Amino acid sequence: MSDLTAVADAIRSNDRFLLVTHENPDGDALGSIRAMKLALDALGKESAMYVGGEMALPPDYEFMALDDLRRELPEDAATRVVLALDSATAPRTRVPPEVLEAAPLVIDVDHHHDNTRYGAINLVVPEASSTGEIVRDLLRELGVDLTPEIAEAIYIALDTDTGRFQYANTTPKAHILAGELMQHGVEPQEIFRRIYEAVPFARQKLKGKALDRARLYEDGRMIATYLLREDFEELGVGEEYAEGVIDELRSVNGVELAMTVREPPIPDGPPRRVSMRSASDSFDVSAIARQRNGGGHKRAAGFSSTETVEEIIEFVRSEFAHAAARA
Ligand code: AMP
Ligand code: MN
Ligand code: MN
Repeated sequence: MSDLTAVADAIRSNDRFLLVTHENPDGDALGSIRAMKLALDALGKESAMYVGGEMALPPDYEFMALDDLRRELPEDAATRVVLALDSATAPRTRVPPEVLEAAPLVIDVDHHHDNTRYGAINLVVPEASSTGEIVRDLLRELGVDLTPEIAEAIYIALDTDTGRFQYANTTPKAHILAGELMQHGVEPQEIFRRIYEAVPFARQKLKGKALDRARLYEDGRMIATYLLREDFEELGVGEEYAEGVIDELRSVNGVELAMTVREPPIPDGPPRRVSMRSASDSFDVSAIARQRNGGGHKRAAGFSSTETVEEIIEFVRSEFAHAAARA
């Protein structure tokens, strides 16, 4: 039995689900759980969506119908089948280990190459552009039709994780799926307008601060910047407003490694969070992230740290210099 059939069978033979994804969710995380929630509704199954962590949802996705998304675990969480989407590890779901252990079943559906296969059933498809793409295949297996709402949620996952069909994970299958979703009511221009043409002004100002401070290292092959707690406080915004800064850095000519360090403006959060992007598969930033208990994809990874901004940048710079010397 394939992993896909195993997941479909497990969904058919259970009735109550907890849909979870990774903390600091992106468009793939939110689109995937939204699509899966609608599919479970269509199958007559009861489900609750949960996003863990302290960070507010990114403003980009405010337009999505996510009113029923919970930021606290439901009391009966441990009695539900946990269906995790787009989370490479169990801790990234922020569901406590005792809840995962008590749950009747944990199903892990993801596309991260370093997924730890923490479920009893694991549908891990590293070649998938997005978890949304895997969800689409799962719905076909389950015989759930694509309504316009489901198609839109999957499109948001696909569009955002492929960087609007520009990253290396933009496969023919990703484009074919986009076409299929359009046939089911998705209007790309409308989604573009709602995600990318509704930028809060404070976000552009924050980006301005970050770009102003950006510095090149290693003869321009690495670029780094940082955002301090005071920056967020001055603009009255949360860490989620820093999303996108790294893409501006990565696009700089000659850059092979881009990184940002952020100080989340929240009392109990980690002191600093680091995002890294690599310009090519031959330089794996997730390997650097794993050295600091983080993870991610070869070309997009992150970790949290208690070190100073300078120490963090120096750590990444030296890892980059060593890897470059070996190559
Ligand atoms: P980000 O830079 O936050 O957009 O994250 C890029 C990628 O790195 C995502 O695929 C995340 O799953 C992964 N990632 C980021 N932070 C962490 C972390 N602390 N632990 C594990 N993976 C992470
Ligand atoms: Mn994601
Ligand atoms: Mn993803």
